[in-house]
Amino acid sequence: MLKSLAGSRVLVTGASRGIGKGVAAVFAEAGCNVLITGRDEDALASTADELSGRAPEGAQVAWLAADTAEPEDCRAAAAETVRRFGGIDVLCANAGVFPEDPLPSMTPEGLQRVMATNFNGTVYSVQACLDALAESDLGRIVVTSSITGPITGVPGWSHYGASKAAQLGFIRSAALELAAKGITINAVLPGNIRTEGLDDLGEDYLRRMSASVPLGRIGSVADIGYTALFLASREAGYITGQTIVVDGGQVLPESLDAIGAP
Ligand code: NAP
Repeated sequence: MLKSLAGSRVLVTGASRGIGKGVAAVFAEAGCNVLITGRDEDALASTADELSGRAPEGAQVAWLAADTAEPEDCRAAAAETVRRFGGIDVLCANAGVFPEDPLPSMTPEGLQRVMATNFNGTVYSVQACLDALAESDLGRIVVTSSITGPITGVPGWSHYGASKAAQLGFIRSAALELAAKGITINAVLPGNIRTEGLDDLGEDYLRRMSASVPLGRIGSVADIGYTALFLASREAGYITGQTIVVDGGQVLPESLDAIGAP
């Protein structure tokens, strides 16, 4: 039985919808005080309201509009978490973008936007929370990477894959720097997760995607949330610089014939 994290102070970036919202929901339902960020104030206010309703009495869900690609905004999010809750025990660096951008038409601005949000934003978020995490008796960082880049490839998303692989290069050296401060840093690598954006692609797409997953379904945002909650737990305190693939076995089959074999 894992010890409760109730009362822990958690910052989740990019959490007005999608995986970040699912991660924030799992921590809020576990009784943590959670601050969520994103850029759209209305979406943040409505998500914070919804998650507050799902949290047990005493647990708070707050929000701050902050662009993770801007160091100043990352510092403001960390400061707001400390101001509201008195410190930071867990950072979930989750904010990310994934615009389709085939190589022939990729522009320096497009490449810059993906790297600035997904990679630089991870580094800025970690930097901004370092002092508060060092003061915490927990000190956990969970980064949302992807199977795309570190393990698999998708035509049109080469810059995205590179940004997600860069996060993993970052955590391995960061883990060594942070170990002396008692802070762990690990990454979750989601496969195909059912978010609002995926729903827009239609039933046919969802059926084809499910067929490529040995466990026969697209993942839920809670699947990622529970993995983040485990990595944030006291019991996971001896794990650092590591990655966990959460994909229903999607990266395993050598061919479609290998799925569903008797
Ligand atoms: P999503 O549904 O588009 O949600 C992204 C969230 O991040 C939103 O709350 C968005 O709010 C916020 N965001 C985007 N850019 C931001 C910025 N510059 N600063 C602050 N917040 C920002 O995406 P998702 O599918 O949940 O993806 C979340 C993370 O999971 C990403 O890192 C992605 O690479 C990773 N991932 C997703 C999947 C999947 O199947 N969904 C698979 C593997 C990995 P605003 O737009 O209002 O800022």
